[in-house]
Amino acid sequence: MHSRDHVSPDRATENPLASVAPADQPNTVHEMAERLLPAYTVEGGTVHLAGCLLEERLFLRAASRDANQSVEFYLDSQGREVNPATVAALGMDHTVELERPPEHAEKAIRRLSSLARQMLAQRFAKRDMSRPVELTAVWCKFAEGKLRFLIGENTADLPFADWARTLRPPPFVCPYSHQTTYRVTATDDGRIVAAEQVATCDASSRRVLSGDLVTCAVTGQRVLPEFVEMCPVTGETVLRTEMVPCGMCRQKVAPTSLRQTRCEACNRLEPVSKADPRLARLLDEHPLLDRWRRWCLSESATAYHLTARGWFRELLLVVDKDSLNLKLLATSHRFRSGWDVVEPSHYDFVLRG
Ligand SMILES: [Zn+2]
Repeated sequence: MHSRDHVSPDRATENPLASVAPADQPNTVHEMAERLLPAYTVEGGTVHLAGCLLEERLFLRAASRDANQSVEFYLDSQGREVNPATVAALGMDHTVELERPPEHAEKAIRRLSSLARQMLAQRFAKRDMSRPVELTAVWCKFAEGKLRFLIGENTADLPFADWARTLRPPPFVCPYSHQTTYRVTATDDGRIVAAEQVATCDASSRRVLSGDLVTCAVTGQRVLPEFVEMCPVTGETVLRTEMVPCGMCRQKVAPTSLRQTRCEACNRLEPVSKADPRLARLLDEHPLLDRWRRWCLSESATAYHLTARGWFRELLLVVDKDSLNLKLLATSHRFRSGWDVVEPSHYDFVLRG
């Protein structure tokens, strides 16, 4: 398979070395494609090679023997000895002769040959000019390029770089969920993703990433955030269509937070003095409230619910906990049941009592 080199070290450089390559490495881009592409399932699209370079990289095989021992080793292009596992992985121990070796490598081959001869000389104790030395240039292909997934008008690239013989199809890494996969698909908004991460929004039937969905606390449905609201009383995420108004404060709440017709916050109202820091802060913000008395208060996740009494009327307030803005003001006649919601433009007039 490769030529023998019986010449002495100082004459070795005059003889061109045999050039060989691993017998079973892929030799063409077409072979690379056949090796890579079948690994992927692309739902509604395709995958192809968008660029693949096969670069020849030089190794040197050095072998020699005398009556007592035989020695063989491989050097990489940097002159480092290659470990046996790599030699086997690259197929360098089973080679075929190259008819047309890569050009412009004479200098590198000379340098490696000289190094190999020095290394051999160190390993054989007896200096013997007739000891046969066998040097062979071994050319292994290194593959570098990228796979391109095409679904509709959208693409995603997956780079690869490895020895042609050992290259395995790299898994696609979903840029959104970071899941590694060989099953690739697209969401309805055109993102190319891991198929395992795709889910259907129960409210819209849109195909999205499961990480985009939230769970309705009432129905258990998985839906996009645009279909839910936060229950102001419990703080739960609930489908907007499932929310029901509290019979007292009119806030739309999760049905689970209603006791009969009232939300939990309206049911928990308890007497509170004006010294209570929450009420004190509110009276400071809305001085007109100071004339009202017999305050009751409760808290929901987002609001204070309050009632107070004047001479003839009762007051019901829902106040945002952070901003202290009035979310609702309603009044009730002391001798009549039911609450009348007050228009924001009439707040001052009503609060003056
Ligand atoms: Zn309520």
